[in-house]
Amino acid sequence: MNSSSRDLQYWLQYDRQHIWHPYSAIGVDLPVFFIQSASGVRLKLADGRELIDGMSSWWSAIHGYNHPVMNSALQNQMQKMAHVMFGGLSHQPAVELASRLIELTPDSLETVFFADSGSVAVEVAMKMAIQYWHASGKPGKQRFVTLRNGYHGDTFGAMSVCDPVTGMHTLFEQAINKQYFADAPTVPFGEQCHESDIASLRTILKNHHSNIAALILEPVVQGAGGMRFYSADYLKQARLLCDEYQVLLIADEIATGFGRTGRLFACEHAEISPDILCLGKALTGGYLTMAATLSSFEIAEKIQSSSPGVFMHGPTFMANPLACAAALASIQLLLDSSWTERITQIADRLEQGLAPCRNYEQVVDVRVLGAIGVVELKQAVDMKSIQSAFVNHGVWVRPFGKLVYLMPPYIINDDDLAALTSAVCSIVGDL
Ligand SMILES: *Cc1c(COP(=O)(O)O)cnc(C)c1O
Repeated sequence: MNSSSRDLQYWLQYDRQHIWHPYSAIGVDLPVFFIQSASGVRLKLADGRELIDGMSSWWSAIHGYNHPVMNSALQNQMQKMAHVMFGGLSHQPAVELASRLIELTPDSLETVFFADSGSVAVEVAMKMAIQYWHASGKPGKQRFVTLRNGYHGDTFGAMSVCDPVTGMHTLFEQAINKQYFADAPTVPFGEQCHESDIASLRTILKNHHSNIAALILEPVVQGAGGMRFYSADYLKQARLLCDEYQVLLIADEIATGFGRTGRLFACEHAEISPDILCLGKALTGGYLTMAATLSSFEIAEKIQSSSPGVFMHGPTFMANPLACAAALASIQLLLDSSWTERITQIADRLEQGLAPCRNYEQVVDVRVLGAIGVVELKQAVDMKSIQSAFVNHGVWVRPFGKLVYLMPPYIINDDDLAALTSAVCSIVGDL
């Protein structure tokens, strides 16, 4: 313990001075915890403490960590090959995964582009939309409309359709393209949408459709842009408006895909088909980085009908076989489980467990949808103190801004879930 704890201090110090973390700075005094291993819903710290995971490593580890079925799928694939280039070559994991995704997603989606991260899948979707309209004789349709409070990734194209305030558009003003922003939907999930709710989107489409390639949105749950849930009926109306104004609909289900909202894909709440669909995060069960962009045959055929006759994108690690094998195993595990009942139960427990927060003066709202529980505060949290408070409570919860939220692995049991919600209530109550 003594010599290893000295090592640990060294590693943490080196990390602080040399390694970027997500949305971080070098050399700052914010806690970073060293993880030794992870298994089931438990993250084991280097000092021996164990934390119950409330984050699924950002929506991804839906089956928890170190899952025997996932591990053996990767070991099997590893015996064959870890990677081969995808230019001119193909392999069974890619073909099987593509057919699985096509079978599970809405009917109109028939082609798959494997990307290496969610942001890249969004870039690919945006480029597909532009190439589609270019090939359709409408090269002026190169801009996008999206919803305020959205989040679509950190690369330049994706950043251009993130919320302009939280997405720091002023900082990158000259570097990112100007897009159109409709008011964020305010109609709650489960309610019908009125004309006034959709008016902002309608006005933009009406006035600018001739230079808009697509509407991009996160169906039903706006994730990193505010953890907001909105009416599925809004989504239905948005689909109709896209048809009316000849604009493609890109559904970014990178966060919502694979059961998190209670349906396999959030678009199912509205019974709509997008023209282009982005998947990521839980796609590989949290094992490897991979994302996918699906589109209709119509889009694919149009793109190749015109110069240059190909779609202009091709990542080095496209369709990485290990990632495909992980995704296939993860999807099979999900479908073989009674995930719909489990998500409903998790939703009930989150609702009950977080309900006491409603009485706290510092809380604005408590909301639950599927396996997502959110406590919205009046003021942004102090990351340094709250992060350590959660760890001292034996749970891994990572708030951002005014939001303290839980999205545990689906395999979590009721006791561990109760430990998560009681830690949230206790820490939020003490703020
Ligand atoms: C996380 C996320 C992305 C970006 O995915 P990365 O893999 O982090 O690049 C895009 N869209 C949504 C909705 C996300 O939640």
